[in-house]
Amino acid sequence: MQIIVFVAFAIALSVPLNGPPWQTVARPEVIWATVAAQVLFPALVAWLYVRLVLHRLEVNPAWLPDAQERLSQGGTAIRGVLVAELCFLLYGTGWGPLVRSWPVVGSVYGLDELVLLAPFFLGVVLSWFVLYPADRAVREVAMDRRLLASVPMRPVWNRRAFLSFMIRQNVLIILIPMLPILFANDFVAEHADWLRRFTRVAWGDQALLVLIAGVVFLFAPVALRHIWHTRPLPPGDLRERLEAMSLRVGFRSREILIWESDGMVVNAAVMGIVRPLRYVLLSDGLIEMMEDRKIEAVFGHEVGHVRHHHMLFYLLFTIASMLAVGGAIHLAVQFWPQLLHNRSGLQDYFQVVAMAMIILTWVLGFGIVSRRFEWQSDLFGSRSITPPPEECDQPCLFHGTAIRSGPDPDPPALTALAVCATGAEVFAKTLETIASLNGIPVDARSWRHSSISNRVGRLRSYATDPTQVRRLNRHVLAIKILLFFGTLIGLAVGVYLYWLQPR
Ligand SMILES: [Zn+2]
Ligand SMILES: [Zn+2]
Repeated sequence: MQIIVFVAFAIALSVPLNGPPWQTVARPEVIWATVAAQVLFPALVAWLYVRLVLHRLEVNPAWLPDAQERLSQGGTAIRGVLVAELCFLLYGTGWGPLVRSWPVVGSVYGLDELVLLAPFFLGVVLSWFVLYPADRAVREVAMDRRLLASVPMRPVWNRRAFLSFMIRQNVLIILIPMLPILFANDFVAEHADWLRRFTRVAWGDQALLVLIAGVVFLFAPVALRHIWHTRPLPPGDLRERLEAMSLRVGFRSREILIWESDGMVVNAAVMGIVRPLRYVLLSDGLIEMMEDRKIEAVFGHEVGHVRHHHMLFYLLFTIASMLAVGGAIHLAVQFWPQLLHNRSGLQDYFQVVAMAMIILTWVLGFGIVSRRFEWQSDLFGSRSITPPPEECDQPCLFHGTAIRSGPDPDPPALTALAVCATGAEVFAKTLETIASLNGIPVDARSWRHSSISNRVGRLRSYATDPTQVRRLNRHVLAIKILLFFGTLIGLAVGVYLYWLQPR
């Protein structure tokens, strides 16, 4: 959902001030009907899925995985409807110019985009409000089962707690950091001429915007720590174990935080590019319901993201995708100069087309990068919980209690890549526990992480076959080299075109 909220902002920012350059529906009654549909239709879809899920559970509570799958399908359907409607509202109707014609909206920096997106956000919140009974029913059935297995649990959250968590988790985390950027975007647009004269660079206004976005991105973790309910992990056995591991693998952060969800969510995250602004978050559900060793494994996975510099490469991915799209548009103008005849109208088209292309690069490319980074962090997590030899109870290449099968003896390079089979197995079990506690089917597909069963299968193959580890390492290295040099070349070309080329 976070990505959908982010895409919504991207769409809103891509709409030119006077509306899309093509013909749109300007009749007020159509615009307001579309606004109403944006608010109500996702909730209607949610209501249909609630019926489906509740019906499933009434007929046979043993069909829990089936009900869970319905619920996650419902989420996908709601997201699809939300984005499709937003596209129609902003690209197909005169909603943008209408909103900007209102007295206060046009004069407060950043307010116009927020009002443009208001029906979208209302639609999001209303659909969660409606969806709650299905979430509750699925959790209650899952809880009955866990009580039978005597796992301690808190009562299921009420609608208010559910809404508060969902809004913080999915909307505010994007919305709050976007506020200064929206403000800056309108400010820069209004003072573009002055900024260009002041900096004596033709793209001085754009540079300032990028700079502000960079500063926001850098300091966002401090705000996010408060947007999500968090508190420091209290001193104790668990904290000591995590700190010992951090020391062992050379990881540092500002604080390890507990992330409150009424014990409903089992999850972890790490945020912040630089150490003084870096936090590791472990959800209360994770800490309450899982054994320390498994929490250590999850913590190790998050540390893996930092130690492999994944966030830095996500940043490069963002920059490279923008440069690539900018370059493609520049080339188009070079090859078809007649495109420039109607210059002002054309710029508006470019703005929309560029945004569409950037979103497309993300849809196509980001999943490929993200899944490999997750697998690499899974591997790091398993390595970080490698037990001493006497506690390793599996045939293990790392501890030398197993020998790799195959015609050739192990070259030393491959032996060095071996992962302890016990560590990998504990990590695999951790992933399965997380899936079951969160009510995610193990083979539910995930664009960013790949399915749990896929990740578990990979971990087991890393333990039995170091060539798989080598393969993953090579793929990640190739991705990193591509992103690094892609960005570098893109920047060089950009600087040449915009700065050094005589005009
Ligand atoms: Zn991860
Ligand atoms: Zn071992």
